Amino acid sequence: MISASRSYDVVILGSGIAGLAAALAAHELGLQPVVLEKAATLGGGTVHSYGLIWVGQNHLAQASGHDDTREEVLAYMRFLGGGNVDDARLSIFVDRSPEALKFFEQCGVRFRVVRGVTDHYYDKAPGSHAVGRSIEADLISGFDLAGWRERVSVPHDVPCFVTAEEQIAWGGINSVARWDADLVRERKRQDMRGKGLGLVCQFLKALLDRGVTVLTDQDVANLAVEHERVTGVVMRSGEFVAARKGVILATGGYGANPQMSWQFEQLPGFAHEASGLTPASLTGDGLVLGAELGGILHRRRYTWRPQARGVVYDPRRQSAFRSSFDLGRPPALEPVGYGREFPFQRRAPNFHRVGCSH
Ligand SMILES: Cc1cc2nc3c(=O)[nH]c(=O)nc-3n(C[C@H](O)[C@H](O)[C@H](O)COP(=O)(O)OP(=O)(O)OC[C@H]3O[C@@H](n4cnc5c(N)ncnc54)[C@H](O)[C@@H]3O)c2cc1C
Repeated sequence: MISASRSYDVVILGSGIAGLAAALAAHELGLQPVVLEKAATLGGGTVHSYGLIWVGQNHLAQASGHDDTREEVLAYMRFLGGGNVDDARLSIFVDRSPEALKFFEQCGVRFRVVRGVTDHYYDKAPGSHAVGRSIEADLISGFDLAGWRERVSVPHDVPCFVTAEEQIAWGGINSVARWDADLVRERKRQDMRGKGLGLVCQFLKALLDRGVTVLTDQDVANLAVEHERVTGVVMRSGEFVAARKGVILATGGYGANPQMSWQFEQLPGFAHEASGLTPASLTGDGLVLGAELGGILHRRRYTWRPQARGVVYDPRRQSAFRSSFDLGRPPALEPVGYGREFPFQRRAPNFHRVGCSH
């Protein structure tokens, strides 16, 4: 048994909304969590997002007079799923998401209903609603984070100083010239943050107020296992950080990992383009860490054929990808391995450069 230099109830990898929300929930439930973030700044891919949270029959909508029913939410989601959903999981999401929203609001996170954003298939799908199900975080000032203000990554291509509702009401992102310039200037002066960035800042503020430990530049090498139970994480330095209750992998997607993007998406060129859109730290580490312990990754078998959709398909690109990764067999038919058979490389910081060497 290795001795731990640090010990917590829950060790959470990742500081996007999944990791921050997990930490806040753990703390509220009386546990001692720690958030370990790989990147130098917090927020992951979440800060680039619009931060819209879709919750049917939520209490905020009800309070503003927008009625909704469980049956309507279920009908709409079944429509979205196209018959390809696990009904038990769907029901749990429908029943528990309003509860989760209320829970985090009671933790101090301020949310609001977004007017102007209808359900995507409003008026076309059963159970769809015009208003009430899209929620966003209220604006929060970066100054409320004191010394942590600079430690959250701020996207420069998203106007986070306006709410999604305002942006729509003001004519959208292409009408920036018509937005209220004085208000925008004042918001920027106060470093007001909304959308995905605001969501991250609200959750971070709640964690900091509670004294939860949040650390950046954390290089986790492995999950530690004892008697078939995950007991913590081993850092690249060799340090063991113990998790008395468990480890939560909230490491986001794999958009900056061209090998995984290729394996899972099967779209020629997609991986290369995606690596420029997502933070470099999103290399699918949670999938790798889980698979190294024997977790099995499933991949949908696509019936998609580039030629059938008229997409120009460059077979040299595919073969370049394949030879770089030495998978040997056609990816479309390749089962995704696990344990020792796992085909993905370890999480080298320059991984995407290796992957894009074609
Ligand atoms: C442009 C855009 C708009 C979007 N708009 C919406 C929207 O309106 N509504 C919606 O629901 N969704 C939206 N999404 C999707 C949404 O942003 C994501 O699903 C969500 O942010 C994922 O959150 P996460 O916490 O799982 O991952 P992330 O926010 O990506 O966080 C993962 C974190 O884990 C860290 N990490 C990675 N590896 C390790 C490791 N080994 N150790 C420690 N930390 C690690 C990363 O650095 C990162 O900080 C949008 C996405 C985009 C790109």
